[in-house]
Amino acid sequence: MVKQRRHWIPLRQFYRFWLFLIAVLAIGLFQLGTGGVPIKVGAIPVRVAEAEVIQSQPARQPARQEVQPALPPLQSHPLPDSLVNWQNPADSSDYFDAITPTPVGYLVWSRFPIQVYVQPGEVRAETAVLADDHPAQLWDEAVQQAIQEWNLYLPLALTSTADQADIIILRAAPPLQSIRPGHEPLVDRLPRVRSAESRYEILLRHPAPPAAAPPTLIHRFTLHITPNQTPAYTLATARHELGHALGIWGHSPIASDSLYFAQVGNPAPISSRDVNTLKRIYQQPTRLGWALTHAIQPSSEATQPLPTENLPN
Ligand SMILES: [Zn+2]
Repeated sequence: MVKQRRHWIPLRQFYRFWLFLIAVLAIGLFQLGTGGVPIKVGAIPVRVAEAEVIQSQPARQPARQEVQPALPPLQSHPLPDSLVNWQNPADSSDYFDAITPTPVGYLVWSRFPIQVYVQPGEVRAETAVLADDHPAQLWDEAVQQAIQEWNLYLPLALTSTADQADIIILRAAPPLQSIRPGHEPLVDRLPRVRSAESRYEILLRHPAPPAAAPPTLIHRFTLHITPNQTPAYTLATARHELGHALGIWGHSPIASDSLYFAQVGNPAPISSRDVNTLKRIYQQPTRLGWALTHAIQPSSEATQPLPTENLPN
């Protein structure tokens, strides 16, 4: 009786099986060496030699949990009523071409009244009354007058706390050096001294918790106005610097405008050209006053500075 050996593979088939296995391994090693890209076909990992085709598509980063904030797009705000109503048919000229847009657009305010803080004089106290001709009193009166003059064209309000102010007016000569090296502010000079300086910073204003709305991009101005000028020059300087802070980030080439680039013997009042220029600026797009387009985690502070710069002019 011949034993049936059905579980045995015939010798010839056995060799064929090993040849097939070696061939498969060799092809696999070759494809590993060509740098193929692993993909899955069904549940099976496969290396595909045509790597270029797949790699020509942009590499996809794994999805991240945190959302990156983006600057608001440039948009214009509604023109304030005070400027809507402004027109002077006798002089419609302006010097808008001399105004420099910044990386965040034009320096337009959109919340009114604009909050202005004026640094009090050193000797001013609750009970003390300064003499009318005291230098600190005269400086204060000149600055207050300049605020009232611009208030006809954009609503301004005084605030007693610098932290809440949009515009901070300091009773001091400009610092000798820019606070941030390489970021020069707009400095206005007398012939041999630095009489005034305007600088702005860009901040984020977070909504009060627990609001989850994204923060708003805002700006804040700091003006240095030296206390060492006559009242007439202090008024002209304050008028000029406030013009910068209200958005006129540039200078007029004509001496009859208060934003003329040089200090002159007979300083000009706010001119029609100054206001025409201001009105055009407030019709321009800006990123200021608009919310970031993606939410980020609010900080513990109400505002936090962004690393942006003061532009030279
Ligand atoms: Zn200036």
